[in-house]
Amino acid sequence: MTVTRFAPSPTGLLHAGNLRTAVLNWLVARKQGGRFILRIDDTDPERSEERFVDAIRRDLEWLGLTWDAEHRQSERLDLYHDAAGRLRDAGRLYDCYETAAELDLRRKVQLSRHLPPVYDRAALKLSDADRARLQAEGRAAHWRFLLQHAPIEWNDLIRGDERVDPASLSDPVLIREDGQILYTLASVVDDAEMGVTHVIRGADHVTNTGTQIQIFSALGAEPPAFGHHSLLTGPGGEALSKRLGSLSVAALREAGVEPVALVSFLARLGSSAPVEVVSDMQAVIDGFDISSFGASPTRFDPDELTAHSSKTLRGMPFEYVRDRLEGIGIPKEISADIWSTIGPNLDRLEDAGEWWSICRDGAQPVVAPEDEGFVADALAILPPRPWDEGTWKVWTDAVKAKTGRKGRGLFLPLRRVLTGRDRGPEMAALMPLLAPPRLTGGPAGGTEDA
Ligand code: GLU
Repeated sequence: MTVTRFAPSPTGLLHAGNLRTAVLNWLVARKQGGRFILRIDDTDPERSEERFVDAIRRDLEWLGLTWDAEHRQSERLDLYHDAAGRLRDAGRLYDCYETAAELDLRRKVQLSRHLPPVYDRAALKLSDADRARLQAEGRAAHWRFLLQHAPIEWNDLIRGDERVDPASLSDPVLIREDGQILYTLASVVDDAEMGVTHVIRGADHVTNTGTQIQIFSALGAEPPAFGHHSLLTGPGGEALSKRLGSLSVAALREAGVEPVALVSFLARLGSSAPVEVVSDMQAVIDGFDISSFGASPTRFDPDELTAHSSKTLRGMPFEYVRDRLEGIGIPKEISADIWSTIGPNLDRLEDAGEWWSICRDGAQPVVAPEDEGFVADALAILPPRPWDEGTWKVWTDAVKAKTGRKGRGLFLPLRRVLTGRDRGPEMAALMPLLAPPRLTGGPAGGTEDA
């Protein structure tokens, strides 16, 4: 069975970049009828925060990215220590006593001699007496994984044939001197133990994958299939990192982006298939194909997302928004009419609430000073209620005949006096739903029954 996972570190909010990883893993699992695991990578107690765990859950729930199991690395430390013991027994994990400052100095010397700044494995030569002396100095060991110096190759689900040469890498530290287990080991132990079959993550993890494949083998486990998606850039190709605050999932939700639009956008961005407007997640799953993704950097344009979200919203069948319309106070009896009239014009579903209050209470009319006389004349012949779909034409024809105005000069002031806005739904369809304007001795001087 296909098993994927999303493994965020709870050190910040989800944003468009790391959400993309979640979306792709979720889709790989759902497409295959498999399982999707949420794994909270919280082995770093200093940087992990509970509020971010809550925010991650809330974001995924809002998006409908359901998960079948949830694990926390901080509750699985015994497993990692056990695996470390096995690596140690196999001679693949060795203790090192250099301080960060010493390592830094060594790197600088290597660089000045034009050598690659790779750990020189000095600790492998330590005798028991050396160790005893270093420990007596008060030094605690950190532990490195002994890489085998043969190229590591895999067929990447996105990048194709991929190769990492461990000879150019430092042996990775798996346990810090304070005993903290690092992600590189914990992730392998979890992926093996949870039966993860596919790992989709950012291209910044390609080197990790090389070393982790060796850790899988050293632990006697089969590595999963790996796919590394390209990193997102801004619309001009610039690094996205500076703008991530405004691109947090929470900020996008606040801005009224439709959840299914965000998922369907990320499900296609960077693939050879175009972004498509769909109304439900099943359609996103059906249209998903990981092999259509490419390795080149992917541009993410927030304006394109906003436009895609508006299109998605406008295309939503009423059944998909019924509950949400009720949730913002639109009565059941009228919500279908409201939707068919104002839906095709909305950018954000929340704006339906404002249109509903205009319909219910009438708008605060807007009348430009130069239109005051014209609007008063028009309101004087506003047909009596009830209004129907033909009322707008009857009225505007009559106003045209009476005033000689036409086009924008005719329609815009009338739209403004009835809705208080320059733009909005088709007036013919809106009028039957609309309360008369709130004319309380305002500039147009009309009355409610005008
Ligand atoms: N916690 C890691 C990260 O956020 C997970 C990487 C992975 O998917 O293996 O980068």
